Amino acid sequence: MKTIFSYLTKREWTFLGICALFALLSIWTDMSIPDQMGVITTKLQTEGSTISDVTGSGLLMLLYALLGLLGTIITTYFSAKVGAGLATRIRGAIFDKVLDFSMEDMGAFSTSSLITRCTNDIMNVQSVFAAGAVLIFKAPITAIWAFTRIIGKNSMWTAAVGVIFLIVVGFIIGIAMLVRPSLRTVQGLIDETNRVSREHLSGIRVIHAFNAYDYQKNRFEKVNEALTSLSRKIFRRIALFNPFLDTMTNILNVAIYCIGAVIILAASAADRVNLFSEMVTFSSYALLVMTAFVQLLVIYMGLVKSLASIDRISEVLNTEIKIRDGADTKKETAQGTIEFKNVSFRYPNSGDNALSDINISIEKGQTVAFIGATGSGKSTILNLIPRFYDATEGTVLVNGKDVRDYKLNELRNKLGYIPQKSILFSGSIADNIAYGDNGRFQATLTEIRHAAEVGQAKEFIEKKEGGYNARVSEGGKNFSGGQKQRLTISRAIARDPEIYLFDDSFSALDFKTDRILRERLKEVAKGATVVIVAQRIGTIRNADRIFVVDQGRIAGAGTHDELMKDCTIYQEIALSQMTEKEAG
Ligand code: ADP
Ligand code: MG
Repeated sequence: MKTIFSYLTKREWTFLGICALFALLSIWTDMSIPDQMGVITTKLQTEGSTISDVTGSGLLMLLYALLGLLGTIITTYFSAKVGAGLATRIRGAIFDKVLDFSMEDMGAFSTSSLITRCTNDIMNVQSVFAAGAVLIFKAPITAIWAFTRIIGKNSMWTAAVGVIFLIVVGFIIGIAMLVRPSLRTVQGLIDETNRVSREHLSGIRVIHAFNAYDYQKNRFEKVNEALTSLSRKIFRRIALFNPFLDTMTNILNVAIYCIGAVIILAASAADRVNLFSEMVTFSSYALLVMTAFVQLLVIYMGLVKSLASIDRISEVLNTEIKIRDGADTKKETAQGTIEFKNVSFRYPNSGDNALSDINISIEKGQTVAFIGATGSGKSTILNLIPRFYDATEGTVLVNGKDVRDYKLNELRNKLGYIPQKSILFSGSIADNIAYGDNGRFQATLTEIRHAAEVGQAKEFIEKKEGGYNARVSEGGKNFSGGQKQRLTISRAIARDPEIYLFDDSFSALDFKTDRILRERLKEVAKGATVVIVAQRIGTIRNADRIFVVDQGRIAGAGTHDELMKDCTIYQEIALSQMTEKEAG
């Protein structure tokens, strides 16, 4: 298991070392200033001292202050650098990791949670590093160092410091324990707000159309209110710290001076000057101890907050990826074939099998179709071929080789997958068609045009201003459903795959385009195996082989004519579509 710190580079460890060194420098200067104050106080109390007696110490104090400032600047600079570098690297690591996630891994987190983990949580860690790295070295050392300076000096004073110290520590621990569990909950609530906002943004049309404004608003207000009230609760507690510590510091000061007054009154005249300067030094040190405590507290709170974030980041980074490259030990024994052997499949966190006992075999160059009611398992069958999921039982073979044995990109290089829901990326039309890598070539403009022509997208692309350079906005929002579908089909064609997987990708096309597209595909993709999931009999009636899917099982297989004769489910589907003159 990797920790966050393993993402620090050697250079950054060096920077942290530099931070530590300069933190020591500024501690040393902080410590030396009270000593000089003591010297000045003694001189001032001594009869016959001149101004020149104290200027030396005064200048020395100034020098210490400047050195301390330099030390702080350098430490802050390097710790900010480390924080930013670390954040960049972790963000990159999360991004890479999430790209490798399978559907199942993805489902284990939610999208909104992944977004908060990638932004807000990383910011938390970064800010602790940026602000905390200086203090993490400085505060404890200062506290201990200052403490050793005062501990032997005067038992009464030391006792006063000890008492106040105990009260403060008790207070800090108490509040931190109260606050700590809430901090993780806060991050979870940020996930929630994120989720509701995302849903709101992506569903805006439906929200408007259904006058669901109030409903949506209530949902948002609920999580927002929960987040606000919890944050308020935490901050109300944290807000107690500063006034409390200030009061304690003042009480300590007063106590030292009261005790001092008694001691000095009781002492002989000769000792009084020394005692007085000792008291000034002592109270400065006591103040240092207290300040160091305040800083420790700030770090501690930051740490507690960032620990919750570090946990959440580590959960992502340490996720065991479910679907990984295979050992690649076996050879392919065929080309363009797909075979399902006794395949059953159950979705993660689902009780029922989505597929049971599927046995099918698809030959090279065949056009094969799956038809069946919605929810019967057609998309699920396709999902197993590119390994979006792995079969729960049985084996899926492509080119005679178990899909689990392939290197993932080699398997996917063979496939041209067209999802049921068209997905486009922001960029140009050409970028979208030439998208990805097929391991052989990068599509040129000629190939892009050709793919668009076969995919029946050419006409509308050329009408667009800018043609192939026309912009595709986020999610392809500036295209109609049918246009998006044609672009995603063209994208698969430009890939020139051995096997096409159309997941209900013709549904948004009119009958004529549907037919022309299939005909053109047959001409250009000679030898390619085509797997089509469809709702319309017309789309698949010419297929070499049709599988009828019913409740996760294959309920019939054959050509259109064969199925019309002896598969009742197929007959029913065909009959229901008769009026469309497509069942023929
Ligand atoms: P279709 O034939 O319409 O393409 P699917 O293959 O998408 O049907 O779905 C088959 C069954 O699996 C349905 O009952 C559906 O509810 C279920 N299902 C689909 N996707 C998931 C998922 N990600 N998690 C759990 N169940 C799912
Ligand atoms: Mg489907």
